[in-house]
Amino acid sequence: MSRAWIADLPTIAGADVCVVGSGAAGSTAAIAAARGGASVLLIEKLPFLGGTSTAVLDTFYGFWTPGDAPRKVVGGLAHEVVAALRDLGPVLERPNTYGAGTGITYLAEHLKVVWEQLVTDSGVRVLLHAMLQDVVVDGRDRVRSIVVATKAGLRRIDARTFIDASGDADLCAFAGFGFETAGDIDPAQTLTTTFRMANVDQERRRPVTTADLHSAMAAAAADGYDLPRREGSDHATPIDGVTATIMTRLEPNERHAGGRLVNTTDPFFLTAAEITGRRQALEYARFLVDRVPGYEAASLVALGTQVGIRETRRVYGDARLTREDVLAARQFDDQIGLCGAPIEDHRAGPDTRWTYLPPGAAAGIPFATLVVRDATNVLVAGRCFSATHDAHASVRSMAQCMAMGQAAGTAAAMAAGHSADGAVRAVSPESLRTQLAGDGAILDLVQEHVA
Ligand SMILES: Cc1cc2nc3c(=O)[nH]c(=O)nc-3n(C[C@H](O)[C@H](O)[C@H](O)COP(=O)(O)OP(=O)(O)OC[C@H]3O[C@@H](n4cnc5c(N)ncnc54)[C@H](O)[C@@H]3O)c2cc1C
Repeated sequence: MSRAWIADLPTIAGADVCVVGSGAAGSTAAIAAARGGASVLLIEKLPFLGGTSTAVLDTFYGFWTPGDAPRKVVGGLAHEVVAALRDLGPVLERPNTYGAGTGITYLAEHLKVVWEQLVTDSGVRVLLHAMLQDVVVDGRDRVRSIVVATKAGLRRIDARTFIDASGDADLCAFAGFGFETAGDIDPAQTLTTTFRMANVDQERRRPVTTADLHSAMAAAAADGYDLPRREGSDHATPIDGVTATIMTRLEPNERHAGGRLVNTTDPFFLTAAEITGRRQALEYARFLVDRVPGYEAASLVALGTQVGIRETRRVYGDARLTREDVLAARQFDDQIGLCGAPIEDHRAGPDTRWTYLPPGAAAGIPFATLVVRDATNVLVAGRCFSATHDAHASVRSMAQCMAMGQAAGTAAAMAAGHSADGAVRAVSPESLRTQLAGDGAILDLVQEHVA
């Protein structure tokens, strides 16, 4: 289809760096790029920043390695985000579900404001309610412009360097760059609609162990409650009497006749997932009230703004992180961050499976997994980075997404500064690593990061 009409669209003033998507990865990328001296435009389809970090969740994982002596693996901008959350109000540091140090449980409403403060203070221009719809590629590999749908109609935006932090790799997909869709080869991660309960009696809830909760789920399911997942969890939040849950489970994809994969990038599938997820959340809330001590007088107070999507498209980068890389805790010359989290597989069916790295170990995240293989001026960050299904299942926690975002933003500012065409391969991994280390990022495992 000819894209000539795009040239006639009204424009929004462009930038050195345009970041699409403002999740943990995209917001961090925008901050880092602006602090690196680039003019930056951040595009987000929701009415607030943060993506999954504010629309779905409330706990940062991934800062630590598992084991008896957890080692810190993420610093830099992610630390600033946590410090800014502490300044705004209470955060709860609690043991991580899979035994990797502590997680940081925050108030999502506070995090929305923290992202806004950090992003705007660093000079980023933000466009909310703006959804990427198309991409103009010069030749086969240089993105010149993107098209966004806004309340005022379609608008064109030009930039030198782009960062695809859309989680779903929308920019790369519209541009025709290579990616793998979750479910193509390995079963995709399931989806979860999160919900919160208020008026929980914490004193009565506390003695209920995880094993108790899971047996109660199994018993309730046998009695006719519709609970597809039997090992979901609830956790305390910084608000007294309010708990949050990761409990529901939705099938991630289905094959239509002819083998076409339908997943969460399909509008009708996504619609059905949202509706089914909310219905399921109500059933889990009913179960909690009827069957779990402490919930007798509780009520559901909030559903996640949207269904939680763990995995959709994974772009092909200059390198691809694999299961073997993760489990062997492989180190790379160009690594821009670390991950010690186990491979966490939420497959269809009742159970989640974890496969661990050796205690205290962490795999490197190569810069080359953020460099889009088929493009000259595009980086990815966050859950659409270049990895196999298994490696992705380890590296997708929000601390790692923030580390990737900081690296991609820093690199994009360097690329836009180095060359008029924003070529990302003009950035030397050595100079990127030097800059990141100077900005507090943790790039290599060293002894002083032991807790
Ligand atoms: C149910 C669930 C539980 C999880 N539990 C945890 C946990 O406890 N702790 C943890 O650390 N991690 C957890 N994770 C993983 C983690 O939350 C995600 O991997 C991470 O938040 C992804 O961040 P991201 O920035 O890459 O993507 P996202 O957060 O998905 O951000 C992408 C952003 O791009 C925007 N966007 C998408 N398409 C467009 C478009 N076309 N135009 C404009 N904007 C667009 C979206 O609105 C969004 O804001 C969980 C994930 C899920 C789904």
